[in-house]
Amino acid sequence: MIYVVGHKAPDTDAIVSAIVFAEFLKLKGIEAQAIKLGELNMETKFVLEKFNVYTPETLNTLNAGEKIALVDHNESAQSIDNLEALNIEYIVDHHKFNLKTEKPLNIRAEKIGSTASILYKMFVENNFEISKLNASLLISAIISDTLFFRSPTTTEQDKTIVSKLNEIAQIENLENYSLDLFNAKSDLSELSVDQIIKLDMKKFEISGKKIAVGVMETTNPDFALNLKSEIIERMNEIKSEENFDGLIFCIVDILKEQNTTFAPSEFEANICTELFNADQIDNVTFDLGSLISRKKQIIPKLETLN
Ligand code: MN
Ligand code: MN
Repeated sequence: MIYVVGHKAPDTDAIVSAIVFAEFLKLKGIEAQAIKLGELNMETKFVLEKFNVYTPETLNTLNAGEKIALVDHNESAQSIDNLEALNIEYIVDHHKFNLKTEKPLNIRAEKIGSTASILYKMFVENNFEISKLNASLLISAIISDTLFFRSPTTTEQDKTIVSKLNEIAQIENLENYSLDLFNAKSDLSELSVDQIIKLDMKKFEISGKKIAVGVMETTNPDFALNLKSEIIERMNEIKSEENFDGLIFCIVDILKEQNTTFAPSEFEANICTELFNADQIDNVTFDLGSLISRKKQIIPKLETLN
C-alpha cells in the first residue's frame, strides 16, 4: 500500500494530483490511497463538490516504514510530519528540489505549470485511459496553478494539455470556469485571519533561516488589504509561535497580475525593497508589481538572501 500525499496547506494541484496519481498507481496494479495534510481551500472544495469527488482523509503521520508517494512537493518542511520514518517510493513534482533520501526512488520532475500536467503525460505514456472525471480534475488543477495561463510558470505544454483534456472533459467555457474557480478561492468570509495567512503558506530553509511565504491568490484583494492591521498583528504572533525568522504575506490580484505584500518587521521590509525591488506603500505594505509566482519569482530571489 502506498499513501499518496500533496503538500501541507493543500491547493487544488496537491489534492487533485494525489487523487489522480493514486488512480495511476492502481492502474499499475499497486494498491494506493490519496491522503491530505490539512483542510481544503475554498477553490478545491468547489472542484470536488462540482465533480462529486471524495475528499481524501487527513493523516498527519503514518506508521514508521509505510510507503509514501509525494506529489506537488518534495521538501520535508512541507510534507507529512514523520517523513523521515517513511519510505518514499515516488515523487511527481514541478518545484525546486531540496531533498536527501536514504534509498533509491522513482522521481518524475518537470519544469511545467502543474503536477497535473505531468500526470496527464504519464497516463498518455502508459496508454492509460483518462476518464471524463479525471480530465475535469486535471484541468481544474492546471487552471489553478497557472492562474489560467497568466502565471509565468505556464508553458506551451500546459495549454496544449488543457485543450487535449477538454476533448474528454467537455467543459463548455474554460474562461468562465476559471473565473468560477478564482471566485470560489476568493471567498474567505468564513475564515479567521490566522486561517487566511496559513491557507497557502509554505516554509523554506534559506541560508540557515526559516522563512515562510504566504500567498493569497484572489479576485478581491481589497478583502485582505482592509484587514491589514489584524493580519500584521497575527503574522508577528505566527512568527514567534513557529520560530520563523521571516514571514511575508503576498496578496496576488489574479486578474490584474499584481502582488501587494505585507512585511511585519524590518527584516521582511528589507527583503521587499532589496531583493524584490519593491516600492514601499507604507511601513508594512510593499508593491511587488508583477512578481506573482512564489515558485518562479519570489523564492529564487529569496534564495539570494545571505
Ligand atoms: Mn501546490
Ligand atoms: Mn503545483
